[in-house]
Amino acid sequence: MPRPSEFDLIRDYFTRGFPQADDVLLGIGDDCSLVNPPLDMELAQSIDTQVAGVHFPANAPAHLIAARALRCAVSDLAAIGAVPQGFHLALTLPESDPSFLAEFARGLRQTAHELEMPLLGGDTTRGSVLTVTVAVQGWLPQGLGLRRTGAVAGQDIWLSGKIGAAALILDEVLKTPDRDDAATAPYYHPQVHVSFGHVLLSLATSAIDISDGLLQDARHIARASGVNLEFDANAIPTSVPREHPQWTQCLTGGDDYQLLFTAPKDAEDRILACAQTINLDHCTRVGKVIAATESDSGNITVIANGTPLNFDREGYEHF
Ligand code: ADP
Ligand code: MG
Repeated sequence: MPRPSEFDLIRDYFTRGFPQADDVLLGIGDDCSLVNPPLDMELAQSIDTQVAGVHFPANAPAHLIAARALRCAVSDLAAIGAVPQGFHLALTLPESDPSFLAEFARGLRQTAHELEMPLLGGDTTRGSVLTVTVAVQGWLPQGLGLRRTGAVAGQDIWLSGKIGAAALILDEVLKTPDRDDAATAPYYHPQVHVSFGHVLLSLATSAIDISDGLLQDARHIARASGVNLEFDANAIPTSVPREHPQWTQCLTGGDDYQLLFTAPKDAEDRILACAQTINLDHCTRVGKVIAATESDSGNITVIANGTPLNFDREGYEHF
């Protein structure tokens, strides 16, 4: 099959079959996309880059690379409580291989439909390493976004879902990157808690999605809010039990995309009711927010039966 040119490639793979939306005034094909903003809404925007060999195995199937890239990016919208509106895609390819592109576009279309997000535009370039950048945007009722700064001493810490499954399957994904089943789903198709994030707008005081490990991401909330966070080791739902040698990895491994949030004590019943309404498998109180002095805030402790645990590392860092 001949290699498509940049413009043929965009037309053939990225203009058709994506979800449509009434607020898109102008999509792919012009210098900018144009979107009609709803009255009284703030625009939430986030961008995420995934590099072959760093964020996914370089030999992973194209459709799974696309699915994962979009889901990981949309997770940031969930974490701030925004309703997804659409996304842009910047793709850097070593070559314009039609079979790769067809598969990539198929995975992207399917995930875009699952998340009901139109592809608004993008950029396509040649480069030595396959790089997928997804910019997502969504709407937030004015002033209600779930920032990292809102945790207050005395509040509870909550976690959606279970953590660890993606980190624990990573070795298997690296060995057999084309394995696409229930076991690898947490890695390639992470659950994105968009609806739950949105209902949390009226319940939570701060939130973050766990991309780099529970402990490391918790620290972001603690620092931003000027508090300390104390977790109960026995309360955290993990994919292996506490006694398991890989339990620590569940807390530090990353790639979970669960929501970690804080809320006042009296929100408990409403949080559990909301979690039930949207059929969340788990939503668990995992700790409490502790008062801190300005010079000694941002600490994370995990307590097991009264004793603080030590961790060699807290999560994933690029540098
Ligand atoms: P410009 O030169 O004005 O930046 P391009 O020639 O790069 O525009 O792109 C032409 C159109 O195709 C634009 O509307 C752009 O948003 C869209 N586009 C380019 N690459 C992609 C892609 N990978 N996915 C979706 N849309 C794309
Ligand atoms: Mg232009």
